[in-house]
Amino acid sequence: MQHNAMALQERARRPLVAMVKADAYGVGMLPVVRALGGTFKGTDAVVAPGPDVWAFGVATLDEAATLRHAGCLNRILCTAPLTMRDFPEARALDVRPALHRGEDIMTWAALGGGAWHFAIDTGMSRAGVPWNEVKALRTVLGEHQPEGIFTHFHSAEREDGSRALQESRFDEAVRALRPALHQTVLQHLDNSAGIASRDAHGSPGALVRPGIGLYGSTVTEALTLAQVVHVRARIIDLREIAAGESVSYGATWRADTPRRIATVALGYADGYRRALSNRGWAIVRGQRVPVVGNVTMDMTMLDVTTLSGGCSLGDIATLVGTDGDDTLSTDDVASWAEMSPYELLTGLRLRLPRRYFDQAGDDDSPWSTERA
Ligand SMILES: *Cc1c(COP(=O)(O)O)cnc(C)c1O
Repeated sequence: MQHNAMALQERARRPLVAMVKADAYGVGMLPVVRALGGTFKGTDAVVAPGPDVWAFGVATLDEAATLRHAGCLNRILCTAPLTMRDFPEARALDVRPALHRGEDIMTWAALGGGAWHFAIDTGMSRAGVPWNEVKALRTVLGEHQPEGIFTHFHSAEREDGSRALQESRFDEAVRALRPALHQTVLQHLDNSAGIASRDAHGSPGALVRPGIGLYGSTVTEALTLAQVVHVRARIIDLREIAAGESVSYGATWRADTPRRIATVALGYADGYRRALSNRGWAIVRGQRVPVVGNVTMDMTMLDVTTLSGGCSLGDIATLVGTDGDDTLSTDDVASWAEMSPYELLTGLRLRLPRRYFDQAGDDDSPWSTERA
């Protein structure tokens, strides 16, 4: 994780707003914030060289509250719009909100204000004032300066020109606001894919907001990131089945010859998605074996017939991540399930117990999970 944060920071040449929304994409918000050098009440500031985190990014006030209640002293930026009714709580939690409506900005200021960031929509059509409508807010912005101004890319991982278009729209909006904006306003645009797409000049603006890259999704081949998440489960049953027998609900897989089937204690209630039925792979004793039949709530079956050297009850199967020399990357597993790596990771928040490993103690694997 630290490796990935440093790699993203070096590519961007900018400090990070480390996105830890959605329980740090399912990886676990507090351990991630600690791993990234977050400072907590009652503990010494981190002296070890680590990533330069300007702020942690969340999407809801509940997420911010979790950080504050744990004693987190870092800046917190909430990038999803809040409604006015949330403002008192945002202030109490010392959260920097993303605002995009004149009315909101004035209300925020009337309540006492505090640092806030101005959200500009340049093509996502989700949140933020449309880039070509910012002029109407010039007076309000002149009176209530934002600390930052930002936009969000919809397809920075594609080389289809959309990022450049969004960037030029953002520049156009900033130019339109310039007479009102202070020179010191912090501009930020790049998510992980944006950062990955940059050359030696790094990212535009003052800050970048990586999320998925921190958690090891490579986004593009241009940037080498470490696998962070390893999902492991033990083999709890081994059996031989005759040709013609089926495996699991719906009998979606049938043995064409006598097969050896291993059952691992991991299912969709742990976030190992049902979409991986007959599609996923596991690493057992350093070799890849296929998932056969439907993934069930608590158990998943593997065809271990061809495993050289065999396997035993209690052996550990790796269903995401690294075992020995082989890695089932988050991106690969997600693509087998026909889902995005974002969905795969955020889904791992379910029943799985988590164990966190230090990078030093376990090469590039600070996070691992295993059902014993
Ligand atoms: C989630 C999010 C990010 C992080 O995006 P990744 O693709 O995970 O790097 C950055 N900015 C905003 C506004 C977001 O909502």
